[in-house]
Amino acid sequence: MTTWRYAAATDVGLVREVNEDSIHVDNTIAIVADGMGGHAAGEVASALAVEVIEDQFRRDPTEDGLLQAIRIANQRIIDDAAANPAREGMGTTAVMCALVAAGEGRAAVVVNVGDSRAYQLRDGALRRVTTDHSVAEEWLRQGRLTAEEAEIHPRRHQLTRTLGFDPGVQPDVFRLDVQAGDRLLLCSDGLSNELTDSDIAQLAGESDTLEASVAALIEGANRHGGRDNISAILLHFDEVSVLPAMLEFASAAAVTAAAAPVTNAPTAAPEPPTSRVAQRQAAKKRRRFSWRAVAFVLALFGFIAAAFFVIGWYANSSYYLAEDQGVVAIYQGQPNGVLWFHPHKVLDTYYKVSDLSPYDQANLKNPTTVGSLDAAIAEANALYNKVHPTVPGSTTTTTSVTSTTTGSG
Ligand code: MN
Repeated sequence: MTTWRYAAATDVGLVREVNEDSIHVDNTIAIVADGMGGHAAGEVASALAVEVIEDQFRRDPTEDGLLQAIRIANQRIIDDAAANPAREGMGTTAVMCALVAAGEGRAAVVVNVGDSRAYQLRDGALRRVTTDHSVAEEWLRQGRLTAEEAEIHPRRHQLTRTLGFDPGVQPDVFRLDVQAGDRLLLCSDGLSNELTDSDIAQLAGESDTLEASVAALIEGANRHGGRDNISAILLHFDEVSVLPAMLEFASAAAVTAAAAPVTNAPTAAPEPPTSRVAQRQAAKKRRRFSWRAVAFVLALFGFIAAAFFVIGWYANSSYYLAEDQGVVAIYQGQPNGVLWFHPHKVLDTYYKVSDLSPYDQANLKNPTTVGSLDAAIAEANALYNKVHPTVPGSTTTTTSVTSTTTGSG
């Protein structure tokens, strides 16, 4: 059974008059929401999000149930704003981590909309799980900005996705690869804007108790300015049991260093391995499989390259005679081409087509191939000599013909 311990706090900060953040945490779900909209509307939006998501998730504690809970909360905020003109334009971010039923185990899933973040801390190393839904980070994803530029871009606070505006808003979903001892921090931007990653890693990991860590994080954000409301929920995973299918996803995502969103990914539900040994074996099997996949792809590339070579060789290994503007020319290739290898002229013989017998003239339209340029030249000489037996031998003709080469194979 996957279980966590938790501590949480939210603080108005040093500049704002009201706290528009809302938080909730229990044994199965943790949520941070950062509301926006004037005249106390931001508080309403974030409180609605937290209440509705928590309540709906309790009824269906699965990944699908969580996504459904977010859809319902989103619609409730939209409806509430429509019914109360004073709250028009209110919205909220939401980042959450939930333990969802997965076969006989429970898997940790992080879902977010907006720029409140989740960070995973393992052995002192911090990894950001979520991607901000801000203009700057969308541009970063599109390669229009570097990570450094996105960090300071003026549009980094302009959100592209929030709850309370678009009924079809798409949250990002991240299935976590967690180990016992990992910590997960959920926070609003009032914390992540004031503290560097190394500050966060240090404060979230160092203290003896989770409560002390959370207090240190809030205090740290205030010490650096406290310009916005500050919220932090810190989860400490005591015990972890997850499905192999879940792990499989997580290890695949780990290759790219950060888990990719898997919204609407189908959930597989094979039997979970019950022992650590079984889990380790499952992990080994997957690794071997991925090496096999790499080998397969390499072999496939090798095969394709070999096929190219063979087809190219076949296409260019034959020669034939054909007419080119009234003259007998020698072409390299297959008369009708092979795939995208087209025949090309390599030599003009200077024999006029009209100098050949009518039978041989007709044959030029449907040529048979020979295996070498020399053989093609000999054939041209033979055809001419049939009609003009007095012409000097093939050596002379061959020499003069060869010197007019227009290209080479
Ligand atoms: Mn904020």
